[in-house]
Formats: sequence, structure tokens, C-alpha cells
Amino acid sequence: MGKVAENISKFLEQIPEHVKLVAVSKTKPNEAILDAYQVGHRIFGENKVQDLSVKAAQLPNDIEWHFIGHLQTNKVKYIAPFISMIEAVDSLKLLKEINKQAKKNQRKIKCLLQFHIAEEESKFGLSMHDAQSILNSEQYSSYENIDIVGVMGMATYTDNDIQVRSEFARLKGYFDDLKEKYFQNNDHFKEISMGMSGDFRMAIEEGSTMIRVGSAIFGARNI
Ligand SMILES: *Cc1c(COP(=O)(O)O)cnc(C)c1O
Repeated sequence: MGKVAENISKFLEQIPEHVKLVAVSKTKPNEAILDAYQVGHRIFGENKVQDLSVKAAQLPNDIEWHFIGHLQTNKVKYIAPFISMIEAVDSLKLLKEINKQAKKNQRKIKCLLQFHIAEEESKFGLSMHDAQSILNSEQYSSYENIDIVGVMGMATYTDNDIQVRSEFARLKGYFDDLKEKYFQNNDHFKEISMGMSGDFRMAIEEGSTMIRVGSAIFGARNI
């Protein structure tokens, strides 16, 4: 068993069964992914369309790829044939394009709405107001090839635990509000993707159902 496989196994022991682990393999080679694959791991996250397309073509078909980065509208077509989940939907325009490309491929694509919960200006994401105007729009109600299955967010990069915890709690609150207002009778809407290598424990305590872990599994990234 390789180092990556060992790390994955240790991780799965540490997290509750209801929490899914997305192994963030960005910048890492196929061998590292296959190491995890060989011990049964299937969910991997990438944040660059080009890298993901190359990896998806070379690696086994039963890998569930999650796109976790900012996705440009003009690149949706490259991943639409195979992507399992697009985690970072941050506009109606993007949702429209995902629906269009999913339809072309005769499939339904799972999406998460990305919320801006961090203090940093630079992080992408919706406000509650933005999300509600998407969900209230006539356009959204006509999209038959997307399935919004939950929310995603990234906390501020800081060692102030109180702040990080309160940002996770805010995302959980957004999830609960949306569930009640828009998805009450929709069993698909159930995911809260929050928590990374440095803060996954707190995220799980605050209600995460999906953590995205890179460096703690694959080692530090150079870029
Ligand atoms: C890189 C990345 C991660 C994983 O970060 P680590 O700190 O290496 O675990 C999680 N989520 C997103 C959106 C990322 O870009």
C-alpha cells in the first residue's frame, strides 16, 4: 500500500460514516490517484478544466470527478460529458450553461451553490440574496438537466478558530434556510461541502456532509 492509500485509510477512520471524502488531487500525478483508487476510493476533486480533462481520459471510468474551482462558462462543455458534480456554481449564467451542456450529453449534472462565507474579498461565491434570486427565477425553474444537491463554501484562511467555526455555522444556516424555502420535498438537496485539510474537524462539527481534502492526503503542493 502506497503512502496516499495509507493516508486515505487513516482519514476514513477519523471521519463519521455520513461524511463523504473528496480527495483533492489537483496538481498531483495519476499514480497518486491510482494509489487511492486501488484501496477503493472513487471521489476526486480537481480545479482546472485542462488538468481534469487529461486525467479523466487516462484514468478509470468509475471515478466520480468533482469540479471544485471557479468554472468559466466557456469551459463547461469540456467536462459536461463526464463530470459527477460541479461544486462551485456561483451564477445563473453558469447554471444555464451547465444545463445546456448536460442536455446535449443527455444527462443531469449535480451542482452545489457556492456561498461566499470568508472574510477575504477574493473568494468567489454567492450571497443569500444572490442565491434566492437564482432560485426564484423563471429561468432556473425551466432547467431540467441540473440537480442542485446542496451548498459549498470555503472559510477564511486563518488560525482564528472562532472565526472559521462561525463561517461554517453560517453556511449551515444558509443550507437550512434554502432547504426550508425551496427544497423541502427534495431528497437530493442534502449536501454541505465544507472543510479542508486544516479545518475539516470543525467543519464536521458544524454540520459538513462532504469534506474536500488535498494536502493531508497527497502531501503539500508546490503550486
Ligand atoms: C485545494 C482545495 C481544497 C483542498 O485544500 P487542502 O488544504 O490541500 O486540503 C479544498 N477545496 C478547494 C475549493 C480547493 O481549491
